Amino acid sequence: MVISVSCEVKEIFNKGKDYEWSKPEICPHCKGSHVWGHGFVGAYFDGFSGFVYLRRWRCPSCRCVIRVRPCGYFRRFQATIEDIRSRLSSRISGGHWLPGMSHIRQGHWLRALRRRVAAHLGNRWQGGLLRAFDYFVSLGQIPVSRSL
Ligand SMILES: [Zn+2]
Repeated sequence: MVISVSCEVKEIFNKGKDYEWSKPEICPHCKGSHVWGHGFVGAYFDGFSGFVYLRRWRCPSCRCVIRVRPCGYFRRFQATIEDIRSRLSSRISGGHWLPGMSHIRQGHWLRALRRRVAAHLGNRWQGGLLRAFDYFVSLGQIPVSRSL
């Protein structure tokens, strides 16, 4: 189970495992009264040269493992949502890909978005790709995920 927490990735990167996470008061899954520390998982994020250690906890009642995802990021994505959106926006509006990242990677996002729009909104969707991006985000979906 992944919980979104507001935090500065830069601070977590700098402090490593010494970063002070606020432990969930209750298990977000079964509402059990406490959770135990369950180590860390290393994740990569754009702009950082190594692992960012993200805390995990485990619930002794339902045994689920709880891990954090910094808010502002999609699950399993290394770029911020804002970065992905502004890169797609530049391209969709007829401009170039923004520099600083391979066109291949950005192209994957755009194709994934187009596929998702076709699959979920249909070919008659007139709202444009960026509005579709925002719409999927509002539904809690990842607009650029390859899995539909
Ligand atoms: Zn639980």
